[in-house]
Amino acid sequence: MAALGCAALLIAGSVLVLPVRAASTVPLFDRLEALRAAFPAAVRAIEADGVVMADGSRIAIDDGAAKDHQQKLAKADLEDMLSQIYPIGACDTGAPPRRNFDPGRIRNDAFFRSLYGSSRSAAQKTLVSVDWFGSRLSFTATGGADKALAAVAGDLAAQPALRDYLTPSAGTFNWRVIAGTKRMSAHSFGAAIDVNTRYADYWLWSGGKPGNVPHYRNKLPEAVVAAFERHGFVWGGKWYHYDTMHFEYRPELIAIGRLAESRGCPQE
Ligand SMILES: [Zn+2]
Repeated sequence: MAALGCAALLIAGSVLVLPVRAASTVPLFDRLEALRAAFPAAVRAIEADGVVMADGSRIAIDDGAAKDHQQKLAKADLEDMLSQIYPIGACDTGAPPRRNFDPGRIRNDAFFRSLYGSSRSAAQKTLVSVDWFGSRLSFTATGGADKALAAVAGDLAAQPALRDYLTPSAGTFNWRVIAGTKRMSAHSFGAAIDVNTRYADYWLWSGGKPGNVPHYRNKLPEAVVAAFERHGFVWGGKWYHYDTMHFEYRPELIAIGRLAESRGCPQE
């Protein structure tokens, strides 16, 4: 159901009925609280003007700048990072993502660097080895990401028919910027995994341009996506700028998506 209500105003004897968009049922405070709850060792406090991190840094919640989608991607504050609700469960219609709907792709660089490490060597120090169907992958232990990935593998091991989609992995840790941008990839922090490229679809390969992606494509079965989501990963196949082999550990976004589901699926 769309979150619409009606307000009636009595003006000069006639009744004017205005559609009123209900306030978000997942207010910003709840989103920030989900972020803190997902990473309690890294997020010390949420204060009016910023989030205080365990390393002592303070990250602005809202920089006050008006931004279009590309500007949000390039220079996200925390509010931008949490602004799109990842569709899950009853809130996931299965329809291709609408234009510029990229929940999880908007990342606040300062937050990621504070959480996982601000340099290649700092990020590397958080890595541990995780078994992925007989191969060893480097993944961050921060926030329990390594245990979450192991749990995904454990769930999917029970469905051998899915194995071919998952392995060989096309990569986990890789300190690098996203192709064509100055932004750090989630792979830089060892918090993302690409599964088998053989079944991958990627918006750039389809001839897409930023903000204008002509065709949505996906070959990955729903059961794979569901297993990752169950353990706190978002899927790049739910992005307008889609990347269907990409799964990223974002337990805060899964929690916010579940909160939205319990409150009637608000869009933003
Ligand atoms: Zn990836």
